[in-house]
Amino acid sequence: MTTLPRPLPRSLDPLPDESIIGYVLRLAHRLNLSPARLVEITGLNARQRTASIPGLSLAVHAAPDARAAFAHATRLSPGETDALFLSAFADRYPAAHPRGGPNRWGNPATLFDRWLFTRSTRYCPQCLAAGPGRVGSELGGPWRRTWRLPVVFACTRHRRYLDHLCPACQQPALQYSPPGQPRWRTTALHPTQCRIILRRDGAAQRTACAARLAADIAPTIPVSAAMLKLQRRLLSALNYERPSQIRELGQEVAVRHYFTDLQLLTYLIRVSWPHGRDLVPTADLAADLDAHLSDPTEHRHAMNGSRDQIARETPPLEASVCAALLATADSLLGLGSPRELSTELRRLFAHDDRRPGNAAWSWIFRTDRPDCSEGMRQAVTSALQTDVREQHFGSAGGR
Ligand SMILES: [Zn+2]
Ligand SMILES: [Zn+2]
Repeated sequence: MTTLPRPLPRSLDPLPDESIIGYVLRLAHRLNLSPARLVEITGLNARQRTASIPGLSLAVHAAPDARAAFAHATRLSPGETDALFLSAFADRYPAAHPRGGPNRWGNPATLFDRWLFTRSTRYCPQCLAAGPGRVGSELGGPWRRTWRLPVVFACTRHRRYLDHLCPACQQPALQYSPPGQPRWRTTALHPTQCRIILRRDGAAQRTACAARLAADIAPTIPVSAAMLKLQRRLLSALNYERPSQIRELGQEVAVRHYFTDLQLLTYLIRVSWPHGRDLVPTADLAADLDAHLSDPTEHRHAMNGSRDQIARETPPLEASVCAALLATADSLLGLGSPRELSTELRRLFAHDDRRPGNAAWSWIFRTDRPDCSEGMRQAVTSALQTDVREQHFGSAGGR
């Protein structure tokens, strides 16, 4: 039994949808402590190898004793504490389920799903600009948990796509740093300042970028009403106070199956590009995807059954590109029946000249199959079987 840490002299109420990392940044700033020190004295890094650096897994989950220690030190309820982690979405969004397993050295480790942004986050500069009340104007708004879910690409309140880079140094926001880097050890940075450490021209020492990521300025790229509608639907699917079923392929399915189907189709549209170009809801979105996916490295990586392929399964950080992929996948799931989806799948499978059953996407489908909806399973199975029949009886000849 570990001893509980002493309660802190002051604490903070978490803001709606606030992430653990955002909460640590705001509370540390309020107490004039470095975030690393706050993590240490609240016991949040119990069981982590490096006691004073927030681990890569922190945004996702913490061990039960670490959460209990943190709740005690910050005087939050266990429910408030649990809600700060991405694992709070696990029943609806399977990628947020914390999974353990051996790492490549055989040691126990937390495994991360590619459908979580663990290494950096998207953000809305206007939401960060001010939280509620006096504390909010001093500490800024919350770094939201949902910004780390690739399916959240827009701020519906400010009607804008989320950003993902610091406008000054062009590095991903709140980028994870390996142990030893000082970005978590300073008290000089506001919770909404960029913490990337840079070596500036001519300077002997590295210093933080420190650009303000919060800005109450309207966006330059508009987000369409249709995309905002899709975003609201996805946010509602993530919300535990809303129905846990969603309409897909003419049936009501569990939200968790919908998200798995959406992820699989997003990846298929990406690797098969431009075969699904005509499925993209608008010409503007199709042009966005063309610009992003016609990058020859994207295509080459996607076709390889290698580690690069895993990297390419990772959804794009860039919100508008990711949104276009999701909108296309969602429109496929909006078809009236598995049979209709099957017809479209056959066309997309044509991207790979191996038999579809041997293509990289099919291997991923087999892994995710148990988490798919019944309609999706039917559609894929039917599309693959047609191909097998064609291989046997068609005129194309065997391979
Ligand atoms: Zn916003
Ligand atoms: Zn920066």
